[in-house]
Amino acid sequence: MNVSIDKSSGFCWGVVRAIEIAEQELSGADDLYSLGDIIHNPMEIHRLGEKGLKTISVGELEKVTGKRVLIRAHGEPPSTYRKAEELGITIIDATCPVVTKVQERIRKFFLDGYQVVIFGKKEHAEVIGLLGQTNGEAIVVKSVEDVEKVNLDRKTVLFSQTTMDKPTFYKIKDELQKRIKDLVVGSFEDEAIEFHAKDTICGQVSGRDARMREFAKANDIVIFVAGRNSSNGKVLFEIAKEANPRSYFVEEGAELRAEWFQDVENVGITGATSTPQWLMEQIKTAIEERFVPALTAG
Ligand code: SF4
Repeated sequence: MNVSIDKSSGFCWGVVRAIEIAEQELSGADDLYSLGDIIHNPMEIHRLGEKGLKTISVGELEKVTGKRVLIRAHGEPPSTYRKAEELGITIIDATCPVVTKVQERIRKFFLDGYQVVIFGKKEHAEVIGLLGQTNGEAIVVKSVEDVEKVNLDRKTVLFSQTTMDKPTFYKIKDELQKRIKDLVVGSFEDEAIEFHAKDTICGQVSGRDARMREFAKANDIVIFVAGRNSSNGKVLFEIAKEANPRSYFVEEGAELRAEWFQDVENVGITGATSTPQWLMEQIKTAIEERFVPALTAG
């Protein structure tokens, strides 16, 4: 049985950068607090936790007055920066530069009087940061059906959370474009024809779709390693499963099941943009130690 790790899996550069910033800051003597989990991966959080990184929520900022707080790759709304300043907190900003760019563009369109529509998940940290650029006024849609929520009488711009899937983004874009055009036929509102769509899905994520499909097809089974709360992990796992139904999602080695490896020649290990390389290596070793000898002996 061959066990191989997908060469194009692992951390995206935005996450690598955030972890490097955290590790640099952790080499100092002072405490470092991450606002929310630095990464959607419990094993990596544990590793950094042992180096002294503690996780807190926005509601707990008062408890760390005067200390250093790290903003993770997802970014934060302007209200968080204001609150930190009031409390004398030093911000270590590890927001991914791609996310910062989306925040800036959303703010610009909002200030220019546009209705901002964001394709994303309302509760996702990145979307909370994006919504904050519009004082919470942007409309968040996560499916074509949600287009009903959009006011068609206003000039509108559509953006995306960086980790969403491209096909749905383009379906939403087409739906909005169609309706806004329909509306123009019935009314004389020139403004309503003004519709922009900005595909702000990160290349680190979307570029992986095709590679993931290829990798999943090339293996008999796929072990997909990611934290269960990783949004990018969910999207990529669905792609793997579509290409190869024998794809299994695990967070750690303890979840591996012997029956998955029956009559299997090629096992592919892959993961989300938040999956550390060391964890995939660990899973590879676990598979080789626990399942390969038993199968070859049988
Ligand atoms: S997926 Fe893209 S936008 Fe998100 S943290 Fe990584 S590089 Fe940045």
